[in-house]
Amino acid sequence: MSRLAANLLDTPPPAPGEAVEVAPGLLWMRFRLPFALNHVNIYAIDEGESEGWALFDAGLGVEETYAAWEAALAGPLRGGRVSRLIVSHFHPDHVGAAGWLLRRLGDPPLYMTETEYLFARYMMAGGETTEDPLYEAFYRRHGADAEETRILIERGHNYLRRVTGLPAAFHPLERRVPLNLGGRSFRVLTGAGHAPAQAMLHCAEEDLLLAADQVLGRITPNISVHAMEPEADPVARFLDSLEDLRGEVPDETLVLPGHEQPLTALHGRLEELAAHHQIRCAVVREICRTEPLTVSELTPKLFARPLDPHQKSFAFAEALAHVNHLVARGEMAWVEKGEVWRARSV
Ligand SMILES: [Zn+2]
Repeated sequence: MSRLAANLLDTPPPAPGEAVEVAPGLLWMRFRLPFALNHVNIYAIDEGESEGWALFDAGLGVEETYAAWEAALAGPLRGGRVSRLIVSHFHPDHVGAAGWLLRRLGDPPLYMTETEYLFARYMMAGGETTEDPLYEAFYRRHGADAEETRILIERGHNYLRRVTGLPAAFHPLERRVPLNLGGRSFRVLTGAGHAPAQAMLHCAEEDLLLAADQVLGRITPNISVHAMEPEADPVARFLDSLEDLRGEVPDETLVLPGHEQPLTALHGRLEELAAHHQIRCAVVREICRTEPLTVSELTPKLFARPLDPHQKSFAFAEALAHVNHLVARGEMAWVEKGEVWRARSV
């Protein structure tokens, strides 16, 4: 680990509108979020005076983000010439302000993986606000009562309140294809599980990885099952992606994540993240050993602490992800599959 990286791990995060230079010409910024996870990290890579800055992620589409961007553009981004915006994935805390920011900057090009771009466009077109009775049936089937179902369905409307659109054209980021940003060669990596094809940027020469939400240092990236893919197994996709990352990115790499502090010792962290899901799966199996449960009955047994509605919807979707994974592996089975579904360990 370089001295720079060692110092960085304890560096206090930058205030909104300020920046920490994590490597020459690579800035770390942090904007506030109105959630339990109260911030998102944004990065800027200097592409030289004539080109400007390549930005990595846009933040949530709310007023506070716009103010933070204005402060950053007037401050550490030195007048705010921007060469391009790269967005890691479709979640509103990363893509939300993109439409506003691109318009504000005079429409520099947008770079995303094709899957994330299309998924974001689908969500922005109201994809999860559907009145289709299938959506309500999905939550009711897993034991959510009318109130819980309302909160879970409300999530699609919340997405729309925190995004600002995307341009009709974009540059697709292709897995393993190099992307030259201001003389630095980054390789695009993608990871599934947290989002369908989240983009990461790896600079092998300088041992840097912009990891977005695929690898976080202290918290584990949320893994969710939604009504659109009710029997999907995103846990398997996520575990595969951790294996990929171990093969693609060396252990001593400085990881710059989408939330919280930078980290190193990547391979150990990948193991911890995989172990987290194995442990959660073991706990789910244990809870469902004696009696079959709905996901709604399982969720409070898995998460002992009280959860706000936002956290509760994540908890429900993650509990279902673990059940789907165990069912896919043949370690659990849906023993009731009528109007309400209950799963039991086998
Ligand atoms: Zn995310």
